[in-house]
Amino acid sequence: MTHGEPRDDKLFMFVAALYFSPVCSASRSGSVAMDYHSGMRLLLVEDELEIREFLRTSLEEAGYQVDAAADGQTAEDLAVEASYDVLIVDLGLPDQDGITLILRLRQLGVSAPVLILSARRSVDDRVKGLEQGGDDYLTKPFALAELLARLRNLLKRNNTGTEATRLRVLDLELDLLRREATRSGELLHLTPQEFVLLEYLVRNAGRVVTRSMILDQVWGVRIQPDTNVVDVHIYRLRGKVDSEGRPPLIRTLRGVGYVLKDR
Ligand code: CA
Repeated sequence: MTHGEPRDDKLFMFVAALYFSPVCSASRSGSVAMDYHSGMRLLLVEDELEIREFLRTSLEEAGYQVDAAADGQTAEDLAVEASYDVLIVDLGLPDQDGITLILRLRQLGVSAPVLILSARRSVDDRVKGLEQGGDDYLTKPFALAELLARLRNLLKRNNTGTEATRLRVLDLELDLLRREATRSGELLHLTPQEFVLLEYLVRNAGRVVTRSMILDQVWGVRIQPDTNVVDVHIYRLRGKVDSEGRPPLIRTLRGVGYVLKDR
């Protein structure tokens, strides 16, 4: 799979040199898209020097504030240190696979959308990339205009109040469309009610929620305060979320309520 990449990268540069400069000058003249992105912070992870510098320049001209990393470890250090609006990650990195990097970043709580960049063309690789924390996928060689369009879409999805379809806290991930929860990619078999309860805890991660808040928000009715329905459901939920030696996420604060750990 990887043996084809250097050649693809050269082809990319060739295509880039031929076709991309008009696009760059267009954005230099100041388009709506340029204004939209001013101040957006982007982390670019790409080991090929020429591609990295070409993309850095082009993205800066499009109005992004760009930090670049040539390997996974540098990318991880930067992503933990600063808060980025969007990440571009090449899959073939010298020290680790881009997928491994993305999974690691998700575990560390980095929730910014990720655009995967790769020479790997197979459908399997695309699906794997998207399933494992990537939000979009672009195959080299590509047109700069398409990269910019996809970045715009990712940022729009994240910033214009459009409801997210996935929630993440550490290694816990909720797919709100499929109504599925996973920990480190492993499916947790939750009932619909347990999913709603977990979603409420995730949306309030790091904050204490009381029994009456849960009753009100999850069950939608104010049940008599002496009911133990919340405790029973939390008990069952914890049996699924925190089982099998995983680091526990759901904490009980005696007499107060519960908190889902976010660090
Ligand atoms: Ca590469």
